[in-house]
Amino acid sequence: MADDTGKLAIVKDNARRIIAELPPGVILEAASKTRSSEEVIAVIEAGVTRIGHNYVQEAESMINAIGQKAKWHFIGHLQKNKVKKAARLFDMIETLDSLELAVRLDAECLALNKVMPVLIEVNSGREQAKSGVFPEDVESLVNSLKDLENVRVEGLMTMGPFTGDPEDARPFFVETKKIFDTLKTKQIPGITMQYLSMGMSNSYRVAIEEGANIIRLGAIIFGPR
Ligand SMILES: *Cc1c(COP(=O)(O)O)cnc(C)c1O
Repeated sequence: MADDTGKLAIVKDNARRIIAELPPGVILEAASKTRSSEEVIAVIEAGVTRIGHNYVQEAESMINAIGQKAKWHFIGHLQKNKVKKAARLFDMIETLDSLELAVRLDAECLALNKVMPVLIEVNSGREQAKSGVFPEDVESLVNSLKDLENVRVEGLMTMGPFTGDPEDARPFFVETKKIFDTLKTKQIPGITMQYLSMGMSNSYRVAIEEGANIIRLGAIIFGPR
């Protein structure tokens, strides 16, 4: 018990320290996969307002335990058979990457009488094994979503290839920001370019330099997985 308390105090301190160093307008999202509800409550107490989760099933018990003390963002790969549950549980889906998924989500949100904010996941590294839309396909996907009344595009999210060196991520953040700015300029009806979610524990400083206003941090807050 004493050990647990000590660990939670460290997690809380980590979150407070990072929040204090963020420029105005940048939102800290805690990436909570594999973490306990106690750890997540600790970061909420430290001032974190957005919690990201990759897995619908695990997130469900966490959300049931914690409730609406924070906004819940889905950041994993959304499977078709989980769309209904995700629509009910989450406040934002950051990983939308196909029209088919959007149409399903729209129908589930209509049934819930809910409008779901979504980000388009950009596969900025054009990696075959990764989800997300290739940079050249983002605009046409966004255009195809503008008439869905229960899904509202509010920005872009990217991971970028992981090498361990944050400088290697910079070009992919730059490319995603360029798409973000282009779409913003086009002022597509029904679409806003408000959120740019980029950067993880190793790369968040570079991501902020390149225009991220949501950073998704796990290890640097909670410790190694
Ligand atoms: C796990 C995860 C993060 C956070 O990664 P850390 O290296 O632990 O900071 C961010 N985004 C997504 C999509 C993740 O799955």
